[in-house]
Amino acid sequence: MTQKIIGMLGGMSWKSSAEYYRLINEGVRDRLGGLHSARCLMWSFDFDDVAVLQREDRWDEAADLMVEAARRLERGGADFLVICTNTMHKAAPRIEAAVDLPLLHIADPTAERIKAAGFRRIGLLGTAFTMEQDFYKGRLVDRHGLDVLVPDADDRATVHRIIYEELVQGQIEAVSREAYRGVIARLVAAGAEAIILGCTEIMLLVGPEDSPVPLYDTTGLHAAATVELALG
Ligand code: GLU
Repeated sequence: MTQKIIGMLGGMSWKSSAEYYRLINEGVRDRLGGLHSARCLMWSFDFDDVAVLQREDRWDEAADLMVEAARRLERGGADFLVICTNTMHKAAPRIEAAVDLPLLHIADPTAERIKAAGFRRIGLLGTAFTMEQDFYKGRLVDRHGLDVLVPDADDRATVHRIIYEELVQGQIEAVSREAYRGVIARLVAAGAEAIILGCTEIMLLVGPEDSPVPLYDTTGLHAAATVELALG
């Protein structure tokens, strides 16, 4: 079988890209067996270049970086693209317009699994950008008919701070896990039937044991959908 070549926009952060790389290779090996592994290209950003633009609200310039990297992957022979972060899907429309490759949007396989399980009201954890802006929530609501709850302002600030100050740097703290458990519990009390881990590093910190309702990890679900698409 000829595998499609996966084009990965990574390094946002490299901690989660390393998980994607591992999960995608394991997924191909599980499907094909033996010595099989994934055919992929990764462009890995210096995350500081991206994070500065996010922080300063310079999203057009951040999208320019994404487009430039997507073009590199296209020139390198990728058959389709995956953006290995939820937040930078803010640039997904710009990328889709700029290159001639399909883009596997991270929200879609996540939402499909949630719908298949019969859940409708979901809690969303991610960066402040993902929790507060419409580019991600809007897709869950408009395309998938989900009802999306986000934490209150204090909890959003906590979730965001822990992502940038700890998780993207590979720092895993018990006190932060406890903080996330509290945020999840409050979303469940507000009616969330399941929780989307809508930032690709959150799975490094919390797992099923930290939540009374099912967690939908975007890293794992996106990586699994990537394997499906690559193998056809
Ligand atoms: N990896 C994170 C996400 O999934 C945050 C880093 C970023 O801003 O890209 O949103």
